[in-house]
Amino acid sequence: MAAAVAGPEIERLIQLLARLPGLGPRSARRAALHLIKKREALMTPLAGALQVAIDKIQVCSNCGNIDTQNPCTICTDARREQSMIVVVADVADLWALERAHATNGLYHVLGATLSPLDGVGPQDLTIDALVARAHDPRVTEIILALNATVDGQTTAHYITDLLQEAGVKVTRLAHGVPVGGELDYLDEGTLSAAMRQRTLF
Ligand code: ZN
Repeated sequence: MAAAVAGPEIERLIQLLARLPGLGPRSARRAALHLIKKREALMTPLAGALQVAIDKIQVCSNCGNIDTQNPCTICTDARREQSMIVVVADVADLWALERAHATNGLYHVLGATLSPLDGVGPQDLTIDALVARAHDPRVTEIILALNATVDGQTTAHYITDLLQEAGVKVTRLAHGVPVGGELDYLDEGTLSAAMRQRTLF
């Protein structure tokens, strides 16, 4: 471990920042220094925003989204399509779909994907709650928006089996050529999936 270059308070700040995704010790040090230099303009408002987040942010008991209200803004929005539930592994995926305005449906956050190797089983996910929601007579379609990884697809198959008797249509995202993508650069898996899932022009 590198020798401390600053007092324990600053070292603690650096250590905490280094735990953030995408920040290693070096960039954490840079971020800490930046915060200290921008004490009034950045550090104080950041500390305030963190405190508000600690006080107010909660997990939606219906869908697993995080918000400052429970049920969350999406679940309580009457303009949302109540017939469609988009299933995601993580809140980050929900945010990505919202940024893209990809759907006007409701969401269900599983919390993770099934991963036998990492010891993540069905009981660790909010699958029971999803099955219960699928039995709501208003719900007609469950869209599985899960990663195109082995774990993501294992989870999709597992959920599809459980939803059989709910009488809802279960769909999943298409796998294929990314928008702006060039065929020559795609891996074989993506290319063959895109060919299998071709659509009528
Ligand atoms: Zn919600």
